[in-house]
Amino acid sequence: MIQTILRIAVPSPLYRSFDYLPPASVAANTLQPGSRIRVPFGRRKTIGILLEIARQSELEHTRLKPALEVLDEEPVLSSDILAMTQWASAYYHHPIGDALATALPVVLRRGLAVQDAGETGWRLTQAGRQVDPATLSRAPRQATVIQQLCAHPQGAPRSTLDAPAEVLRNLSNKGWIEPCTLEDAEADAAPVASTPHNLNAAQQSAVDTVTASLKAFDAFLLEGVTGSGKTEVYLQIIDSLIGQGRQTLVLVPEIGLTPQLVKRFRSRFTVPLAVLHSGLSDRERLAAWRQARSGKALIIIGTRSAIFTPLARPGLLVVDEEHDSSLKQQDGFRYSARDLAVWRARQLDIPIILGSATPSLESLFNVEHQRYRHLVLPNRTGAASLPSYEILDIRKQPLEHGLGHPLLKRIAHHLDHDGQVLLFLNRRGYAPTLVCHDCGWIAECQRCDARLTWHQREQQLRCHHCGSQQPLVTNCPECQSTELRPLGQGTERVEQALAEHFPEVERLRIDRDTTRRKGELTKRLEQAHSGQARILLGTQMLAKGHHFPRVTLVGILNADQGLFGTDFRSSERMAQLIVQVAGRAGRHDRAGQVAIQTHHPDHPLLQLLIRQGYPAFARAALAEREAARLPPCSHIALVRAEAARQPVPTAFLERVRQHCEATGNTGVELWGPVPASMERRAGRFRAQLLLQAERRGELQQLLHGLVRQLEQMKEARQVRWSVDVDPADLF
Ligand code: ADP
Ligand code: ZN
Ligand code: ZN
Repeated sequence: MIQTILRIAVPSPLYRSFDYLPPASVAANTLQPGSRIRVPFGRRKTIGILLEIARQSELEHTRLKPALEVLDEEPVLSSDILAMTQWASAYYHHPIGDALATALPVVLRRGLAVQDAGETGWRLTQAGRQVDPATLSRAPRQATVIQQLCAHPQGAPRSTLDAPAEVLRNLSNKGWIEPCTLEDAEADAAPVASTPHNLNAAQQSAVDTVTASLKAFDAFLLEGVTGSGKTEVYLQIIDSLIGQGRQTLVLVPEIGLTPQLVKRFRSRFTVPLAVLHSGLSDRERLAAWRQARSGKALIIIGTRSAIFTPLARPGLLVVDEEHDSSLKQQDGFRYSARDLAVWRARQLDIPIILGSATPSLESLFNVEHQRYRHLVLPNRTGAASLPSYEILDIRKQPLEHGLGHPLLKRIAHHLDHDGQVLLFLNRRGYAPTLVCHDCGWIAECQRCDARLTWHQREQQLRCHHCGSQQPLVTNCPECQSTELRPLGQGTERVEQALAEHFPEVERLRIDRDTTRRKGELTKRLEQAHSGQARILLGTQMLAKGHHFPRVTLVGILNADQGLFGTDFRSSERMAQLIVQVAGRAGRHDRAGQVAIQTHHPDHPLLQLLIRQGYPAFARAALAEREAARLPPCSHIALVRAEAARQPVPTAFLERVRQHCEATGNTGVELWGPVPASMERRAGRFRAQLLLQAERRGELQQLLHGLVRQLEQMKEARQVRWSVDVDPADLF
């Protein structure tokens, strides 16, 4: 029998869609894929997405339930987003319903009408228009709002009103103001545009190459040394697109989305711009999403999940800092925003630019195989030159809270010569370890295979892996000794040492602990930027993406962490971090110097990096990957499992391994199961099985069958398991 079946993706951990009959009152021919539909699901109701309209179902007609209600006239998910998410769900082996939920702003997931979204403003009611603000002298803040709204008869965006929420609530309770939709009021455009720079030859050539191919898909890797003017290249290409009325979506890592970056885009163009990041409220996020979808915002800047933003007139995708691992989601739907961006650009038939000073080996590999075109900016702009490197051997050297004398001498020298100093240490807190000097006891986390970090100011011991914390102990729990000592150093401890050495010099620490309060990071970055603080000390937060024109010396306090990491990407990460941190030095007219403290001054990769630069390092690292058949020269996926007790996860992964072997797929090698490098975390034991294949197709085929079997396996119910395709980290 021919019928009309709605195939619907429902948010659930199941790897399938569900069939329904159309709601009674709805003409099936008006339904479009990508629309939200309310459906009965088990004993509850939920909101699913219509994937397709089918003619038959595997289920008998009598067993099909009718859907309840269609929520959208126009699909919320455009066909290109729907297609991309379906592809990603298949490629990353993540349930389709959950993947599609990720693609939607939260309030739409919950069923809000798209057009209600503009309710981000307020306007005066009939009654409110009769109120004379002068009579409100006892409520001056209410008076101000009334005055402001008088000037905006169509309503004013919430963000422009100078009042806390309670004042608006009071006014609304009095019936004087009401929320309103602000299709046009929110248009966030700058009044005047700053002038573009005159490009140098390399920049010009990059701009010309991309603008010559704006009409179709093409992928570019823009490899420009730090301070080479990559952003300026984006801006000038975007300028051409704005001329054509086409939109650009710019993806940046969370840490790279700084107020300065947004300011640079805002101050260059007078067109509306939308920003999407995790700090927005759900409503703000939806407002930005709508501006992108309607085509009003011509530039959209966002972090990872912004790859799912609909675009009315797409012209270009940009992924800045494309090497950054935060572009890959590390839990749930483990997609790579960079890789999805390339897929989306191809599907939209528009160009994409991947930019970085330290490209990922994946992207360099793609250049080698002529999948991407290589655009190179070898020099810094203007008078700035690249910094010079120096390795400081700290073996057998006395260290004062992590600072060796040669480094202290250099800091003093640069301060004397009116320079600004940036010190990098990728560890916050006072010390990563607390040890008893008498018996050797070490403070460890009860729930993780990890040590507790000593936080001096809060007088606490904290676990940076599970978040647990406890008061600092004063006596050793083993031997009662009071001789408890810090081992190793974090930024807090180095700050103290700097205070002792350079008491009269203004210092600034930037890490997660000092920037927790809202607005604090922006404030501190301003102080760093203005040069008011002479010594900057911080973690990656300080190291990436910023432009501090006065920094002349960069000190890397400990390069050793990355040299001997357990992950095959450790050295790549270390090299990227060193180059990015070093890139903060000498970005203006004064030459920069980089000093690296290490116990391994002769390490070959470190030597190669500082003598010949990142491209030479990357070539060598790629050759090593080739020899070891590791990505990008092969393809890998991880099956992870965790449970409250061993050997549950390992036993489960043994079964997974047997399943894989039983398929007879010889193109996929299996490694493990092995315990994760930190086996116990937050009270759960973790293990993993690595799958490696020369051909992507074979790996995909195996995983496709596997996840459907895992769903059925009863052992699977005793563990939390996940599949990670192209994992960013192997633990
Ligand atoms: P990157 O993104 O490669 O690190 P930026 O785009 O931030 O580099 O550029 C570094 C600095 O150089 C910025 O202050 C920028 O305004 C400036 N700049 C960019 N292009 C030019 C140019 N052609 N001439 C002079 N200054 C430039
Ligand atoms: Zn002790
Ligand atoms: Zn812990």
